[in-house]
Amino acid sequence: MTIAGATLSRNKAASGSGRKAAQRPSLLLAWYDRHRRRLPWRAPPGARSDPYRVWLSEIMLQQTTVKAVGPYFEKFTARWPSVAALGAAAQDDVLRMWAGLGYYSRARNLHACAVAVLRDHGGVFPDTEEGLRALPGIGPYTAAAIAAIAFDRRTMPVDGNIERVVSRLFAVEDALPKAKPLIQQRAATLLGPSRAGDSAQALMDLGATICTPKKPACVLCPLGDGCAARARGDQDTFPRKAAKKTGALRRGAAFVVTRGPELLVRTRPEKGLLGAMTEVPTSEWRADNDDKAALAQAPVLKAVARWQRKAGVVTHVFTHFPLELVVYAASVPARSRAPAGMRWVPLATLNDEALPNVMRKVIDHAITRKGTA
Ligand code: SF4
Repeated sequence: MTIAGATLSRNKAASGSGRKAAQRPSLLLAWYDRHRRRLPWRAPPGARSDPYRVWLSEIMLQQTTVKAVGPYFEKFTARWPSVAALGAAAQDDVLRMWAGLGYYSRARNLHACAVAVLRDHGGVFPDTEEGLRALPGIGPYTAAAIAAIAFDRRTMPVDGNIERVVSRLFAVEDALPKAKPLIQQRAATLLGPSRAGDSAQALMDLGATICTPKKPACVLCPLGDGCAARARGDQDTFPRKAAKKTGALRRGAAFVVTRGPELLVRTRPEKGLLGAMTEVPTSEWRADNDDKAALAQAPVLKAVARWQRKAGVVTHVFTHFPLELVVYAASVPARSRAPAGMRWVPLATLNDEALPNVMRKVIDHAITRKGTA
């Protein structure tokens, strides 16, 4: 075989050329009709999807599992049954309801998007990718997902699950993120002439249930016949990934002050990490922090005679850096005043505060750990 011939046949194998490739969209839809997951935000077979539910679930599912999202989705839709209702809500209420789901900028964008849909579109989502992308917090993936699932636009959103399935099916050798455009292109070949939303959801389900990150169940896969990675036996190695860069460890101290049944808290700045969320006072989080420097940044409360340092540390991993916090505790007498910019909240209603997970860990640590000498 000539070099050109060998290249041609390799390309054909990778793109799954021929009859098998042409059959993939219908094989995928037939599989979906039998094995689709039942998810709270999904319309029953044949019914039209509600754009509000599709959008809300897609925003919640970014960086979070289906299992974690389920209860939040139910709570949100029970309280705000439409995008107009969410757009009319106070941002604080939305942040409070979101607390615990992480990545809080999403909650602020969620609210900003609902406000924009209500104000600029009369409470009705635009039905094109371009129109959707113009809204706050809606990137290319989410716009394609809503356009396909809610409006049956012929487009293929590519999430992590789809990335995995497609990179295996076509044995995409480039590492992520460089491989994204090629994966997008290959994924589009799995769209049939109609039912774009179902094709996308079929691939999402296939990735979640069959083409799993480890040990994919290839014998059950509707696309198994003609999967390039399966033929080679190296499915687990896809998608190829570039080495991850993680930020340097940052350190700091958190100060848990109680006044009887109340806790001292403050609200973080609107912009930036955990923006507008509630926290107990902390020192700065820096790579070069030591205990002494962190303790020097404790809130100034006249009534605190001594900070009790709790044994151990709280660790938390943010997207760009890991964090280690030592925890200091103190209790102050009734009627002690909160320092400027801080407030007392009853411990009994702490669940109503927009407390991020790292702060829940800190408070739990202060309550359950003994003090050091
Ligand atoms: S055959 Fe296996 S590796 Fe290929 S797409 Fe199906 S489950 Fe994934």
